[in-house]
Amino acid sequence: MNHINKIEHLGIAVKDIDQANSIYEKLLGVPPYKQEEVVSESVITSFFKVGSNKIELLASTKEDGPIGKFIHKKGEGIHHIAFDVDDIEKELKRLEKEGFQLIHKTPKKGADNKLVAFVHPKSANGVLVELCQEIN
Ligand code: ZN
Repeated sequence: MNHINKIEHLGIAVKDIDQANSIYEKLLGVPPYKQEEVVSESVITSFFKVGSNKIELLASTKEDGPIGKFIHKKGEGIHHIAFDVDDIEKELKRLEKEGFQLIHKTPKKGADNKLVAFVHPKSANGVLVELCQEIN
């Protein structure tokens, strides 16, 4: 069994979800297939399909939410890479053993019907890594 199946999506931090939706709709030629608020993370997300890949736009609903803070520090742009896994609990244990710093030791419910957990960018060469597992 693979540890990591594939890149599930790229997450892009944006200031204004409506403005970003219209830009990405023009860029990709398709409208978002889903828009969803994740209250626990203070974000509104929208998802685009590009072939077998996905792009997630994330806008903060609060100035001091995780995305709000990210944009304040770094501006808009690529925020995280999400990898699809079959068994998120097992992967979190494996990565912790390998010395990665986990932001979430146990998965939580994320957008787009997924269990998600994040690995700290400090331990992954400056890239915020999301693991996600489809909820059946
Ligand atoms: Zn994501």
